[in-house]
Amino acid sequence: MPSPTPPSGTDAADLAALGIDIGGTKVAGGVVAPDGTVLATARRATPGSSVQETEDAIAAVVEVLARGHDGPLVGVGVGAAGWFDRTGDTVLFSPHLAWRHSALRKDLAARLQRPMWLGNDADAAAWAEYRYGAARGADLALMITLGTGIGGGIVMDGRLQRGSHGVAGEWGHMRVVPDGRLCACGNRGCWEQYASGTALGQTAREVARSSPAAAAMLLERVDGDPDRLSGEHVATAAAEGDPLALELLTEVGSWLGQGIADLAAVLDPEVVVIGGGVSVLGEMVLGPARERLDRALPGRGFRPGPRVVAARLGAEAGMVGAADLVRRAVAEGQA
Ligand SMILES: [Zn+2]
Repeated sequence: MPSPTPPSGTDAADLAALGIDIGGTKVAGGVVAPDGTVLATARRATPGSSVQETEDAIAAVVEVLARGHDGPLVGVGVGAAGWFDRTGDTVLFSPHLAWRHSALRKDLAARLQRPMWLGNDADAAAWAEYRYGAARGADLALMITLGTGIGGGIVMDGRLQRGSHGVAGEWGHMRVVPDGRLCACGNRGCWEQYASGTALGQTAREVARSSPAAAAMLLERVDGDPDRLSGEHVATAAAEGDPLALELLTEVGSWLGQGIADLAAVLDPEVVVIGGGVSVLGEMVLGPARERLDRALPGRGFRPGPRVVAARLGAEAGMVGAADLVRRAVAEGQA
């Protein structure tokens, strides 16, 4: 690979960096310029069941991008769908990948030989929206990513806040329904079981089983088999005006708004950015979320609440944020 020597802190801010986003199904990487522009991308499937193969996929994406880039690279930022310790050395737990107390930094450092930043994917996305997107310049910004589950990130006073143990912002696992739906984290009734893409599919299946007549239009999409209904089916049906699908999106949006009201009670954010796959549904989810927030905000009518806005950086937020975080870490002598 070219440029194995870390650049000095003084010029790091002007150099491109690699950003890697690791989800449950793929490793996506990009060469990212200091202004947030993605100059090139590469991807590999994530073999979720194997730590070794996931790390192979990361190394392969880094190699392809580094070989194709003409010029120095400041380092590699890695945002992954997992809970990291505060230093980013260890993945404590990943509900959808194989990491369990895995020494990811050590493993990757040996293979990549480059400065690194490692952390949670939603943290990286939060940072990207703060630096270049919908939360630019906010004193206190929260990111909520709606996908398979709910991810979260906090940027306060110009710093990403990772918590004392690295796992701040995991509000997808706030309990919103006592003894509710079982969650991959081991608890029941977590917020992400009611306000995520997975939740959308589960609610659709429940309604289709109990009220097949009401769900006739949805069931047509899956040859009458309610077990095959997913969040994507609901999203497509809603875009085509299916009233039940729209109602299900309203329900997910309403759960989202209630959770934001609870977060506002704790953190009083200036802006809450909604990203992740479900956020492409835009106002069909955000509208009901704002309505619920208006009704549920503690002290409503007597205090300002947060702005709730759609993410601007889309699917590239994780890689853009991770790249900028390694750039910043090198500039501060922390990588
Ligand atoms: Zn949970």
